[in-house]
Amino acid sequence: MTALLQVAPLALKFAGDVGRLAVWLVLLVAIFVPLERLFALHPEKIWRKQVGVDLAWYFINSLLPAALIALPIAVLARLLNGLDPFGIYSAIAAWPLGLKMIAAFFVNDVGTYWGHRATHRFPFLWRFHAVHHSAEHLDWLVNTRAHPFDMVFTRLSGLAPVYLLGLAQVTGNRIDPTVATVTVIGTIWSFFIHANVRIRLGPLEWLISTPLFHHWHHTNDENRDRNFAAIFPIIDWIFGTSWLPKHWPPLYGIDSEIAPTLTGQFLNPLKPSAKLVAPQAGEMDTELKISQ
Ligand SMILES: [Zn+2]
Ligand SMILES: [Zn+2]
Repeated sequence: MTALLQVAPLALKFAGDVGRLAVWLVLLVAIFVPLERLFALHPEKIWRKQVGVDLAWYFINSLLPAALIALPIAVLARLLNGLDPFGIYSAIAAWPLGLKMIAAFFVNDVGTYWGHRATHRFPFLWRFHAVHHSAEHLDWLVNTRAHPFDMVFTRLSGLAPVYLLGLAQVTGNRIDPTVATVTVIGTIWSFFIHANVRIRLGPLEWLISTPLFHHWHHTNDENRDRNFAAIFPIIDWIFGTSWLPKHWPPLYGIDSEIAPTLTGQFLNPLKPSAKLVAPQAGEMDTELKISQ
């Protein structure tokens, strides 16, 4: 009976979270399904292959990574507690909220860029990230097709520098409002840049990521391993990985086979037959040899 009383609030919270995600899903469907009908880049059915698997990933990846990153963020906060190196934290705390928010978006994206680039560079990380790149057709829901470990790694890469620079604080169990804003807007934008839409933003495409920018990240031709930033293409431009021609990629996906089922994708990184060589590893080694 006591055990039941302890489990009941957790079960209620879980049911509440699933309900909240279901409402978000209805909103996302209401936005993206008509958008993809009106501005379709490629002809695609709504009820296409693997839609059930991607919907399952939607719920799993909206719940599990957030729970898993709470602990490392709490440890980081504990380590930083009471520190104010060179008065940086107190100076940043005095910034106007708008400036702090813009800085948090940018710092988060720089961290995400390097975390994401690492997943293409190191074979161990690529085993997990390959699940996201296995999609051979892109649409808004493909955004959720990712291994939870990959989500945790990339999200931590983005958020750790935000906390390290004092742009966000851990206060009890409450999520920092700056982190909440960066995460919610970043997630909605991420659905948009995967969408099967031919929407272009003209000169703004150099300021903010677009479907064209991220679709090229998913290409499976000789231009793969570019456009790692989630929101600001200038980060790729600064680090020499930008690729933004006027036309769309000819094909998406990867060379290796990834199971089309939820358990197959979850267990794929553990398979000895999974592709061991990350796509960028060879290229970067070649660059190093040239520069030596
Ligand atoms: Zn990638
Ligand atoms: Zn993607």
